[in-house]
Amino acid sequence: MASAGISLDLFASPAQSPRYSGFIERFFRTLLDRDALEERTTDQPFCITCDRFAFEAHLRGRCSHCDAESDGGICEACGKPNAGADLIDPACVTCGGTPERRPLRQLWFPLERYRSAAEFTFACAWLNPRARALVAEMLAQPLPDVPATQPAEWGIAVPASGYDDQRISAWFELGPHYLALTDLLPEARGNPGGWQTPWTGFDNVVQCFGFDSIYFHVVLFPAIFQAFDPRLRPPIGFITNEFFRLDGSKFSTSRGHALWAGAFLREHDADALRFHLARVAPEIEQTNFTLDEFEATRRDELIGIWDDWLKDLAKRCEAAGGMVPLAPAPRSAPLALARLASLFGDLSHCYSVQGFSPSRAAHLLSEIVRVARRFRAEHAVFDGKPASALEAAGALAVELAFARSLALAAAPILPGFADRLWRDLGERGAVAEARWELLPAMPTAGTAISLSTTGYFEPARPGSEPAPPEPTSEAEAAPPADDIETAPSEAEGEPIEANAEARAEAPSPAERTEPAPRANRRRAR
Ligand SMILES: [Zn+2]
Ligand SMILES: [Zn+2]
Repeated sequence: MASAGISLDLFASPAQSPRYSGFIERFFRTLLDRDALEERTTDQPFCITCDRFAFEAHLRGRCSHCDAESDGGICEACGKPNAGADLIDPACVTCGGTPERRPLRQLWFPLERYRSAAEFTFACAWLNPRARALVAEMLAQPLPDVPATQPAEWGIAVPASGYDDQRISAWFELGPHYLALTDLLPEARGNPGGWQTPWTGFDNVVQCFGFDSIYFHVVLFPAIFQAFDPRLRPPIGFITNEFFRLDGSKFSTSRGHALWAGAFLREHDADALRFHLARVAPEIEQTNFTLDEFEATRRDELIGIWDDWLKDLAKRCEAAGGMVPLAPAPRSAPLALARLASLFGDLSHCYSVQGFSPSRAAHLLSEIVRVARRFRAEHAVFDGKPASALEAAGALAVELAFARSLALAAAPILPGFADRLWRDLGERGAVAEARWELLPAMPTAGTAISLSTTGYFEPARPGSEPAPPEPTSEAEAAPPADDIETAPSEAEGEPIEANAEARAEAPSPAERTEPAPRANRRRAR
């Protein structure tokens, strides 16, 4: 985790934590005490060869909703639940045999009785359109009863007499496990409060999981939470992903069709991997990982475009004395800075619950670099011309504002790169601790700059030379001459530093040109 730049507040081992299993048992007992579970005997698939009931991962057949191959419990293809017994052509996963039906006494949760909790969650919480469509379809029909116990040897014992040969079912552990883990969390932080703090207080809970768990998280868990404690507030948002494939087929550790993150990160840059994974994240459809595409992202984008600009900027900064120049902003600066502010507004949305999209954020980061490269290409004509020295210095300061904004905006996705760039730009403290800016600020004139002249991403391996940089003229269409003439130009003639201070007091040209979304303004305040 650390080698991927991921830090955790808590890493719990449920099997080793008596407090965890104690919490799950208490949760289950509360459901029993509140008459939220009903004892019922139903016919369930039983494998004679294996001499056991076949359920969930022990059972496979075809989904009665979409006809795809499915395990018992939930269909990975359409995301709809099944009762196991209703799978078409069911087979025991262990021996392949066709199970017969045998009566089984279990504790069941009557989900329909708690439908209002699922409806409330659906009405209030953020879900992406595909998840909304799936939940709406399920809520339009009577909700099924759900088994709360299963005939298994592995798992947490059922705290009720007569169920020694059963365990709390996976979903009746997974639901309360969120509460159990937040109950352990304050302990890990040395901060009392228990599970009630995030779940009944003013904190907002957001859950992230795969598409095939939508039913459990949005319909079942809010219902069992309400049965457990009506004060419990459901999450405000659910972030779901589709399947991510490797070389065109499903990851499978049992078949060895997998990439082991620890080994991969010993050979590859974590920031480059995180950036690529964000870019190709399966947010609305299944996507795929190939080593060639990852290498291309690093070589052609991060080294070929980002580093290419930053290395050139580093050399020009060195030549200019290694500090942010004190110079008036060039006439074209407000237009470029307005574009930067607009990109920041979009990025704010991508990092929010409602618009959460690492994929779009990664593309917007690349767009910041492209706008900066275009700005540089336009102003390269000042180089070596004494009559334009002041404008060249002002343009350099604007480019440094782009680099500073890139560091700030890239921090969630490329934390190592962002922090290094941030410090190289003379900013104090870690970029992760820096406040998000609604209007990207100009760097302070006189700040010492020590950008890397060798780039920020690992050099390409032999045989994978960087592709030629993308022509900046194609990266962004040249603005029509009219736009340049009508662009706000109040900043012209003012020193960059004074301009930055003025922006804090009054709406800047950028804000007037392209206001950021209201939600972003609120956050910035
Ligand atoms: Zn299905
Ligand atoms: Zn079997």
